[in-house]
Amino acid sequence: MTLKDLTIEFTGCTSLKDKPSADSLEFGKVFTDYMFTMDYTNEKGWHDARIIPYQPIQLDPAAMCFHYGQTVFEGLKAYLGKNGKVLLFRPKKNFERMNRSNDRLCIPHIDEDFVLEALRQLILIEKDWVPRAEGTSLYIRPFIIATEPYIGVSPSKSYKFLMILSPVGAYYKEGINPVSIAVETEYVRAVRGGTGEAKTGGNYAASLKAQELAAKDGYTQVLWLDGVEQKYIEEVGSMNVFFKINGEIITPQLNGSILPGITRDSAIQLLKYWGYPVTERRLAIDEVIEAHKKGQLEEIFGTGTAAVISPVGKLLYKGETYIVNDGEIGSVSKKLYKTIVGIQTGELEDPFGWTFEVTEQRHITKAG
Ligand SMILES: *Cc1c(COP(=O)(O)O)cnc(C)c1O
Repeated sequence: MTLKDLTIEFTGCTSLKDKPSADSLEFGKVFTDYMFTMDYTNEKGWHDARIIPYQPIQLDPAAMCFHYGQTVFEGLKAYLGKNGKVLLFRPKKNFERMNRSNDRLCIPHIDEDFVLEALRQLILIEKDWVPRAEGTSLYIRPFIIATEPYIGVSPSKSYKFLMILSPVGAYYKEGINPVSIAVETEYVRAVRGGTGEAKTGGNYAASLKAQELAAKDGYTQVLWLDGVEQKYIEEVGSMNVFFKINGEIITPQLNGSILPGITRDSAIQLLKYWGYPVTERRLAIDEVIEAHKKGQLEEIFGTGTAAVISPVGKLLYKGETYIVNDGEIGSVSKKLYKTIVGIQTGELEDPFGWTFEVTEQRHITKAG
């Protein structure tokens, strides 16, 4: 199914839900009135694209997604721009990445332009659900599940693609507070050759245990080390991670087990544009600790769609705690946060063509 043969069937709701007030918004608990769905079979390919009332889906208990984890997902946000227009941030990148995840999980490709067009139509219907208050947004969750009723281990012959929408509150309600993270030295998230660079549910299932233990110790997130030597930094929970050491900004290079974040890529492009020295390379935890001892560890921050930029104020490693930048947000973190959010909400100039305006007119974006 490609843009050329696009028709999306629409079924209206008989009654609409009440929209939550801005101050009651949390993350991912409330969903809008409509969702997008389409189905895949080997015979028909992707078909039956439709926007229907948000509702439970019915699946056979033998549906393969329940048993062997053949699923992929994406996450992006729609923002209400100052001009009243709804804006997406580099949405094509999410569907490109979804196809790379699909490759890894043996799930058939989607047509990226087609699903972006479907998303445009869904958001137009749901535009009143995009919250207005500063820092709030409409979170978009596209995902694909294997649906064939078969408990043999093989790629499914049928799939369901869905997009659901959830209004979410400001990530930082009282200014940006740096988080504390625990370096995980027992469990690993992913290994080279595994599924670490795919956005698939299993990676998260595998991360819960360490996350739970870190939370018990009062740490917000886990910093993962590589799965082979547990020596090199990979990423944080659902964020990529950057270190500023003695003026140089370093982030782990994409090595096959790190999720290639779109916020990560945007941060690298912006930092280069501003003339900062940015390096993507292997970075040992020992190098970070050594830099801290020499007083050269200037900033740590995470990047991801949910928080955009999340400064790290405290690190726990092998029972020792290390305070970063006096527990305050650093200047690079602050500048990146202000700029990316400014571009996302249309308040700042967008020199990279990153924003995608959700207009009444269908358009094909070149936005990178
Ligand atoms: C989604 C995700 C990220 C961040 O990606 P963005 O595209 O920046 O939102 C980082 N790490 C993991 C494990 C993720 O699932």
